[in-house]
Amino acid sequence: NAKRKPLIAGNWKLNNNHLESIALVQKLAFALNDADFDAAEVVVLPPFTNLRTVQTLVDGDKLKIGYGAQDISEHDKGAYTGEVSGAMLAKLGCSYALAGHSERREYHHEDDAIVNAKVKAAFANDITPILCLGEGLEVRKAGNQVAHTLAQLEGALKDVTAEQAARLVIAYEPVWAIGTGEVATPDDAQEVCAALRQRIGELYTPEISRETRILYGGSVKADNIAGIMDKSDVDGALVGGASLKPEEFVKLARLG
Ligand code: PEP
Repeated sequence: NAKRKPLIAGNWKLNNNHLESIALVQKLAFALNDADFDAAEVVVLPPFTNLRTVQTLVDGDKLKIGYGAQDISEHDKGAYTGEVSGAMLAKLGCSYALAGHSERREYHHEDDAIVNAKVKAAFANDITPILCLGEGLEVRKAGNQVAHTLAQLEGALKDVTAEQAARLVIAYEPVWAIGTGEVATPDDAQEVCAALRQRIGELYTPEISRETRILYGGSVKADNIAGIMDKSDVDGALVGGASLKPEEFVKLARLG
């Protein structure tokens, strides 16, 4: 997979106010500042209120850190109190937005149709959606993780064109492994990531399938990233808890 650059994305969730985000981004930038750092593309996903601050730091110092949002509205504008549109995120220089994180699906009742609309809203604004998919514990115990995750993929990609799909990033995040310390084995991650890649090929083209970056997420830390990255269909990680600790996240960015 020489063509696929590893992507390490830090999902800060509901953590860090804008001052704390300055401190964290500066620590990351300082640690990753060597000219030949090229192990991975590094992205942070702060709360909405911190995006302007992060934009200013990244632009002002030409930092090698990308950033994006943890969510995106499916609507463009109008009477949708509390929502933030793709156009607003694009104006702040966001390159990425999560779509369908399991916490949004669970606590904000986002179903596949809403996730599909969010994926399309991201593409419409030249933002790369990081489409989050993955099964809960019951589905895993029943051995249905592949079928479940592929169904989520197809729901989220309804009416997404090949041109758009060529820019998609997928994050396979088994819900039972998020924030639990219960990391899936590299083989568990590979099984579902390979199935996702194959289905992308069936839905679109072999070339798009080969080039799509598929991340694993769920209790990834500096000491387990290498085993996950060894797998041929895993191209990086979506990291929650460990992305809040600068030293840990820098080790992750260096792939362990
Ligand atoms: C996540 O929320 O996307 C995630 C993977 O969290 P954690 O790394 O804390 O399990």
